[in-house]
Amino acid sequence: MFAEKMVELGSRRSTIREIFEFGNKRATEVGRDNIFDFSLGNPNVPAPQTVSDEIVRLVTTEDAAALHGYTSAQGDAVVRSQIAESINRTHGTHFTGDNLYMTVGAAASLCVCFKALAEEGDEFIAFAPYFPEYKVFVEGTGAKLQVVPADIDSFQINFDAFETLLNPKTKAVIVNSPNNPSGVVYSEETILKLTALLKERSEEYGHPIYLISDEPYREIAFDGVKVPYLTEYYDNTFVCYSYSKSLSMPGERIGYVVVPGEMEDFKAAYAAVCGAGRVLGYVCAPALFQRVAASCAGQTSDISVYRKNRDILYNELTRMGYTCVKPEGAFYLFPRSLEPDANAFCEKAKSLDLLLVPGDDFACPGHVRIAYCVKTEMIERSLAAFEKLAQMYR
Ligand code: PLP
Repeated sequence: MFAEKMVELGSRRSTIREIFEFGNKRATEVGRDNIFDFSLGNPNVPAPQTVSDEIVRLVTTEDAAALHGYTSAQGDAVVRSQIAESINRTHGTHFTGDNLYMTVGAAASLCVCFKALAEEGDEFIAFAPYFPEYKVFVEGTGAKLQVVPADIDSFQINFDAFETLLNPKTKAVIVNSPNNPSGVVYSEETILKLTALLKERSEEYGHPIYLISDEPYREIAFDGVKVPYLTEYYDNTFVCYSYSKSLSMPGERIGYVVVPGEMEDFKAAYAAVCGAGRVLGYVCAPALFQRVAASCAGQTSDISVYRKNRDILYNELTRMGYTCVKPEGAFYLFPRSLEPDANAFCEKAKSLDLLLVPGDDFACPGHVRIAYCVKTEMIERSLAAFEKLAQMYR
């Protein structure tokens, strides 16, 4: 009677949500201060004051009917050109508003790109560890998601495995840097190798293999690390951006897709993005937050909080004997679990009210994700529990 796949998707609980809800229940029993919840990627740093100021300014000075009205499907023209100028200032690109399509956050940016590209029999490739929704979104279009196993020593790309998965059915490759859940930033060397291989294979197969760059964490990068802007390396790149993390407003649902003018058959590509947004019923991105995003483009919430949290956790955990690739961005740490079964390890952690997410959810068993977008003071209090957990394995 109902679409079986939808019933299944809607009934299956997300592990992360389940852990988060367990934490809330435990908090009522033992007190919030005794729960160390590292499960959710919800930014804890507030949006910059300019976001609130701009909301107030807009709602108190602008004509309400226009402010809250529909915009054109691809987004308000002035908003798109302001954001394009901001990207150009930061990355030396040459976009105009016509290269941008405003969306309801990165999830929608991705869905729109997948839908714009997917045809019968197509395959998309993601690199483990990867954001689990990719599989849901890609399969929702009828296409197949192929997953390249992780290079667990660096969390850069496992090129040997990648090369064997590329084939004439490959439509697009998804990259996410800074990465959720590893926190790793793909080096320029990785990007050069990746784009050279994609150019070679596109030529061999006689059709482009698109690159989809999922980058909600672009600005959350530490110690001056360079996060290459992929359209500068590969013309057939869709950039899927979101203000959820950079401006700490995930609930407001605002982001965009960039379709560079250099993309093969640009007009058709941009039309396909618009068509996909139409089929998916997005109508237009939230009008008020299009305006807020345009005014605040280029700003971020206080990223230094995440760097401080990263430093404390990485230094303390590695001192205790945990093995972890040092994250250079996002707000996640992805250490190895102290036993091969990350689920069993997370259960032991849970007995200490330490809530971690098993790496299996990100196609990377033997690891756990620690979302450190939490209060620094909670991290400091959690260290004794991490130490007790390590002691269980000594
Ligand atoms: N991509 C990655 C890698 C993410 O971690 C997230 C959210 O956590 C998203 C996409 C979705 O972001 P948004 O809230 O902007 O839809």
